Amino acid sequence: MQYIEVSIETAESGVEIVLGKLIAMGIDSAEIIDPEDIREISSDKKKYAWDYFDETLLENADRNPEIRCYFPADEQGVGQAKRVRAGIEELRCVRDVGGFGSAIDLGPLKVQISRQDDSEWKDKWKEFFKPARIGEKIVVSPSWENYRGKDGELVIEIDPGMAFGTGTHETTSMCVRLLEEYLHPGDEVLDAGCGSGILSIASALLGAEKVQGVDIDPEAVRVSEENFVLNHVESVCHAEYGDLTEGVDFCGDIIAGNLMAELICQLASSIRKHLKRGGIFIGSGILTEKENAVMNALETAGFVIEKKLQDGEWSAVAARKDAQ
Ligand code: SAH
Repeated sequence: MQYIEVSIETAESGVEIVLGKLIAMGIDSAEIIDPEDIREISSDKKKYAWDYFDETLLENADRNPEIRCYFPADEQGVGQAKRVRAGIEELRCVRDVGGFGSAIDLGPLKVQISRQDDSEWKDKWKEFFKPARIGEKIVVSPSWENYRGKDGELVIEIDPGMAFGTGTHETTSMCVRLLEEYLHPGDEVLDAGCGSGILSIASALLGAEKVQGVDIDPEAVRVSEENFVLNHVESVCHAEYGDLTEGVDFCGDIIAGNLMAELICQLASSIRKHLKRGGIFIGSGILTEKENAVMNALETAGFVIEKKLQDGEWSAVAARKDAQ
């Protein structure tokens, strides 16, 4: 979809004034890109408990704040964009004659109007997603590559769309390796936080009889269902919208959850309830520095840790619900 983006470069103390001007012009939605937010988040990682922080964001941390507004890519939209430029020009004139006093810095008040196409950035990542072996036998291939598996390979075709899970992230590939080790043909599997559906499909290819995917993101549920059909496993795998913290009606031999450390700790006892006796929980998405906390939470909930894997800064675990 095409749209028009108007970007206004200002300064910290100019943000409110520029927004006020836009509102006075009847523009009531705008995006504020304030590098101060990035600086604050990166310097206070602990407070926000981020596990994922894209360090490339810091490259822009020295820039001026920017306010962006968006209009349809039609004649009316072009007109509105020009009106914004004129409005900001007015602000600049008021500033230049000292209308805001000397204490308030409005920054460069530079306006840029551009035509954007969101299909371009949506598809950009596709150039970097190539077939990759992520387990002993399991290979992931983008659905548009037409990769034919070699002897013994199990190929998952995937189009993750806007959901997480091309399979190439360490947290996913460790889950796949543990599924290859622990899943027995005929098992029933709960894929907790299914994303693109990749772990559900891997389970089906490894011989699971029934797989239930659950995700809190409706887009992930939609994408999973599409990928199940793409891989011809729709009779085995199903995805549904759901929040694991609110309970899911399924009891499996295996639960795979590529979630974050905090969520695994929080869910440890409810994961246990959804496992059959002797069942295995495969947990991933654990930053190695948080591994101990996760192991403790799982042991406290009554799991026995059977295996730990580590790749880069990430850890994964296989824990058994002991047959009491
Ligand atoms: N299983 C995929 C995706 C993992 S990303 C893979 O291994 O590649 C984690 C997923 O968990 C995301 O899609 C996110 O939407 C989902 N999620 C996070 N919290 C959740 C919750 N409380 N209940 C259900 N799903 C959740």
